[in-house]
Amino acid sequence: MACPYQCVFCNQEKISNTFSIPKPEEIAKTIDAYLETIPKEREINVAFFGGSFTGIPKEEMIAYLKVAHSYVLSGQIQGIRLSTKPDYITNEILDVLEKYGVTAIELGAQSTNNKVLLKSGRGHKFDVIEKASKLINERNFELGLQMMLGLPYDSLELSMQTARDIVRLGADSTRIYPTLVIKGTVLEGMYHSGQYKALSLEEAVEWSKEVYKIFMKTDIKILRVGLHPSEELELGKSLVAGPIHPSFKEMVLSAVWADILAEMLQEGENATISVTKNQLNYAIGFKGSNRNFYKEKGVDLLFVADEKLSNFELDVCCH
Ligand code: SF4
Repeated sequence: MACPYQCVFCNQEKISNTFSIPKPEEIAKTIDAYLETIPKEREINVAFFGGSFTGIPKEEMIAYLKVAHSYVLSGQIQGIRLSTKPDYITNEILDVLEKYGVTAIELGAQSTNNKVLLKSGRGHKFDVIEKASKLINERNFELGLQMMLGLPYDSLELSMQTARDIVRLGADSTRIYPTLVIKGTVLEGMYHSGQYKALSLEEAVEWSKEVYKIFMKTDIKILRVGLHPSEELELGKSLVAGPIHPSFKEMVLSAVWADILAEMLQEGENATISVTKNQLNYAIGFKGSNRNFYKEKGVDLLFVADEKLSNFELDVCCH
């Protein structure tokens, strides 16, 4: 909703023809249905995602928010999240969001480089992202800044700069999405005419890894890395080209651990590596890639879980 339909990577026709937009009175039914399946002790949020929520007419936005807010007031949900474009954030809009219990605002920043923004058809420059982030941070909202890798004119260095800017802008959370070429987009035309080259899976993993390493040194929550292939989002259907893999996040985290291990391990020495349980599989590597890499060099690594360690912390015991 409220989308200016200008971004080169977005299939405008598909969005407007495929999805029907639920009316405010319909979303209560959706919330009720989901509440029945979610354990009460979980933190539950209602999210208005897809499109630019704060760009819709004020009265309509309030009608949606009122429904979600009634669930916050009754204690059935704890928060309301939404995604929007940076150019749809003003103090007047934030007054409305504050009044109706919105807790988190995610901005599609995509890149902080003006040339990338221009070539991607975002319709604004970096200063707009900066200003919107500042306005959100002046209030009690969680700020999410989503980024895309491999947009037209983007490079590894520019993507890393975007990540550093997201940190500097005070984001609480981020999502990292490699760019995909979708049928019916301007980008598809650019791809076929040779003006645009999609990232390979290996490049996307490498870029995501570098960006991930910037975020993991901060308190920023990484809510998502990569898109999951869906039935629709498959090569030959909607997907024309681009890096997509069901285990994309695992591959990125394996690569992060490969760098950590390379830094920590003594050349040629067998070792026991202790890591926290939720990082164990990533440390071993996607399909055992990190363990196998050392095995091929004649080095045996034994990976064990140690709950005393925090994420990305490790203990190395050489033997
Ligand atoms: S990415 Fe968002 S703002 Fe851009 S065309 Fe698609 S829905 Fe609209």
